[in-house]
Amino acid sequence: MQRIKRNDTVKVISGKDAGKEGRVVRVYPTADKVMVEGINRVTKHERVKTSRRGAQEGGISHVEAPLHVSNVMPVCPECGKPTRVGSKIVDSKKTRYCRRCDSEF
Ligand SMILES: [Zn+2]
Repeated sequence: MQRIKRNDTVKVISGKDAGKEGRVVRVYPTADKVMVEGINRVTKHERVKTSRRGAQEGGISHVEAPLHVSNVMPVCPECGKPTRVGSKIVDSKKTRYCRRCDSEF
């Protein structure tokens, strides 16, 4: 059961982006990591090279790095607060629910 899914809004609870919220753009289930829009941006330095057509490639770019799922909390769409997620079985399907307001999402 994944605690966090793509397109969830999550709140960062630790690290340099603690307190920020963002949308999950990618989930890495095997590594327990998530990529969150605008969160955990790192500066990447690449050697500048010139392609055959003369265009410059490389230099400094900002990319998002994955965060561990334990560093984020899903934000409940119903009550709008970061919450712990429970799971229960409804109609023989597993669903996630908010432990604050009991709404499923
Ligand atoms: Zn809720």
